[in-house]
Amino acid sequence: MANASNPFRGIRIGSASGAGLAGWQAETGRSPVDVHKLPVTYRCPQGHETTPVFADLAEEEIPEYWDCPRCGRTGTRRPEAVFGDSRTEPYKSHLDYAKERRSPAEAEEVLARALGELRRSRGEAT
Ligand SMILES: [Zn+2]
Repeated sequence: MANASNPFRGIRIGSASGAGLAGWQAETGRSPVDVHKLPVTYRCPQGHETTPVFADLAEEEIPEYWDCPRCGRTGTRRPEAVFGDSRTEPYKSHLDYAKERRSPAEAEEVLARALGELRRSRGEAT
């Protein structure tokens, strides 16, 4: 019973989808080229992108959110949309907030100082 832990043994995804397509063609009388395929990119808060392809969906039928296959967080079609409480403000990274609070020159100074501290903590010469 070495393979008892794998319930998917023997199922071939590729051949199954091929049969499914042929069955679909016979059923609908349509060829795959008739189907409007719409790739939609979703981005999760971690920056992972996933692009599921939707067939024959109207714009309003396309899900607004899609679970990230890599980290399980909720991705959105609009990366500028905020995650969390408010959906009116665009999403901002910590760096964006830092930039907002400081002038570009100050931000560079802060960044340089932080880099210097990082190098020192790693024992590198600055
Ligand atoms: Zn993710």
